[in-house]
Amino acid sequence: MSKSELKVHETKSRSILKAVSFRIVEITVTTLLFATQMDSWTAFLFALAAESLCLTLTYIAERVWNRISYGRHVYSGKNCEQCQ
Ligand SMILES: [Zn+2]
Repeated sequence: MSKSELKVHETKSRSILKAVSFRIVEITVTTLLFATQMDSWTAFLFALAAESLCLTLTYIAERVWNRISYGRHVYSGKNCEQCQ
């Protein structure tokens, strides 16, 4: 069989685990950055920094998750054997 015939799908539990795990990272970063009092310009700069950092961490998390096989099934037939 050629590689182009293989199909991959991610389970719902994998998607949920990815979303929840990264939300924990975002909440932690936001809490740390906004823990002190600040003026609106400073708050904006912190928000910009938080969003930029979260964007970077999102990318890194996606690349890390690409190396994790949990919930990822590779199959070649019509249906995934592991989900039946
Ligand atoms: Zn499956």
